[in-house]
Amino acid sequence: MAQIDNNTTIIMIRDFYRNIIYKAKYNLTEDECERAILDACRFFGMPAPVLIKNLTNEPQGSTCFSNRDPNSFYDDVLCYNLKELKSLGVDGYVGFTAVFTHECAHRLFQNRLLPGPDFGQWEHELVADYFMGVRAALQDMDITKVTDGLAQTMGSGTHPTGTLRREYILYGKQEGYMHRIKNIDASAEDYFQLFLEYRLRHLQELHAAEMRVY
Ligand SMILES: [Zn+2]
Repeated sequence: MAQIDNNTTIIMIRDFYRNIIYKAKYNLTEDECERAILDACRFFGMPAPVLIKNLTNEPQGSTCFSNRDPNSFYDDVLCYNLKELKSLGVDGYVGFTAVFTHECAHRLFQNRLLPGPDFGQWEHELVADYFMGVRAALQDMDITKVTDGLAQTMGSGTHPTGTLRREYILYGKQEGYMHRIKNIDASAEDYFQLFLEYRLRHLQELHAAEMRVY
């Protein structure tokens, strides 16, 4: 039988108790977080990130995607902070994997120049929100809480206003449902083209929101 040394035992006990605390506080264990991230990657047909970092106990830790080479999926790092996510309405697997659908959309479009000010800074966020809605509709996930949480956020130079974010999530849901009902298979690129068309049809709203924040 394999010998388990003292250090391994201490780590196992520490992880066991941490997971109990996480489950009680955030309704998610670290394993469930990892599964939710991998499910989001699978939705886009992309490989797992090279690293998943739990930054819940880091004071400045935020939920994000980072990379070095924008032309590769294989150096992508995904980070999460459950405390931050809880304040956005994430209270379990569905909300968490929805947020990582957003982060994985950033992975997907990491080398894309999108239209809009600052190299499409807001558009990168809006397309990520839109895909959150698409996946929710295709996989029958109730993302009301996280949508409402994001809708409460203020806009900034890096992130659109919450009202706008909600609109794009809802539009993504609408497209997802349409495709599901009609049983039409569409690629991420097809959905992306629909996003661009929607943006063009609602350009006035987008500019009005930008004027208020920029
Ligand atoms: Zn984002």
